[in-house]
Amino acid sequence: MQTYVVSHEDWSLFLDRIMEDWTVVGPRQRPDQPGFHYFDQVKGPLDLTLDYTTTTIPPKKVFFPPTENLFRFTEGNPPSIDVVCETTPFLLIGVHPCDLAAIDALDAAYSCPPAEMRWAVQRKRATIIGIDCLPDEYCFCASIGTSESRKTCDLFLTPIDGAYFIEIHTAAGEKTLKTARKVPAQARHLEEVKRWRSEKVARTTASLDSPIAEFADILDRGGLTPVWQEVASRCYSCGSCNTTCPTCFCFSMDDEFDLTLAGGVRRRSWDSCQLLEFALVAGGHNFRGERWQRVRHRWHRKFLYLYRRLGRPYCTGCGRCSRACAADINIVDVSNQLISYSQKGGHNA
Ligand code: SF4
Ligand code: SF4
Repeated sequence: MQTYVVSHEDWSLFLDRIMEDWTVVGPRQRPDQPGFHYFDQVKGPLDLTLDYTTTTIPPKKVFFPPTENLFRFTEGNPPSIDVVCETTPFLLIGVHPCDLAAIDALDAAYSCPPAEMRWAVQRKRATIIGIDCLPDEYCFCASIGTSESRKTCDLFLTPIDGAYFIEIHTAAGEKTLKTARKVPAQARHLEEVKRWRSEKVARTTASLDSPIAEFADILDRGGLTPVWQEVASRCYSCGSCNTTCPTCFCFSMDDEFDLTLAGGVRRRSWDSCQLLEFALVAGGHNFRGERWQRVRHRWHRKFLYLYRRLGRPYCTGCGRCSRACAADINIVDVSNQLISYSQKGGHNA
């Protein structure tokens, strides 16, 4: 792997140049709420804030928006269908390791037969530049194994003194960086990167009390009902945990007709397994009508079903669900309660 160093000044000049040719999407700071960041199009280097902890909504939204039109239909014989699909390439910049791992997890989920072609089309549009970060009290990426993920990125940046240490991961990344003024990385730069990583480990405070495989076994054994019920007694079933999650991929669809009823659009929107209606079927039966069943489903989905099926947890340890939860339900605390209850023999209850 080739590694280079680009000074902050040269990085700004490089961004200025590439923004003339590329659509660039990256983390921006909300002007009305310093400290809050969101992914959006950036028009100049000053719009971009690469030094951030997290965003409320993950960067998956640029490939899979919260609501999007899939196609427009118009009556006729035969009826016409016009697919709505953006294909312009863009540069997605400033993606943290856990969010790179999340994009990889969605690649895996959406490529299961029958493959979700729309996701694949959207993914092909992007060249991705990742960047390393330091955790806050909610981050537990180290427990999940995503804290050093480089999956899906073309280039990866680590901040060092007055510059970025840049790893080239793909030919597309190499091509993108071609016009940047850069110097090959030297031993002292590698030392700085090592210091950054040590700092990251030292600052990580949240962690799961068991390896992921053992946690899956604990959930599989069942019998954890008192914990689910305690969590459900606090949960509002609002769905914020799902809608902020970088690995949740459920959606619902609906048709919006024109006033003439001669045509309309089919839309898809993010959905949440924590909402009461999610598992409601025709005839009025609800497969998860009790709140504790929906809470349990969320944990089973993240750490058991998809782990068994696709070989990875569908949680990257980003902590967004815990930050977003108005009821203060923390995924690490609840997981550790489940582990502790099981270790005390509770799974046999
Ligand atoms: S965000 Fe919190 S309150 Fe809302 S559904 Fe998720 S766990 Fe329940
Ligand atoms: S479950 Fe929570 S911590 Fe895990 S990836 Fe989703 S939002 Fe992040």
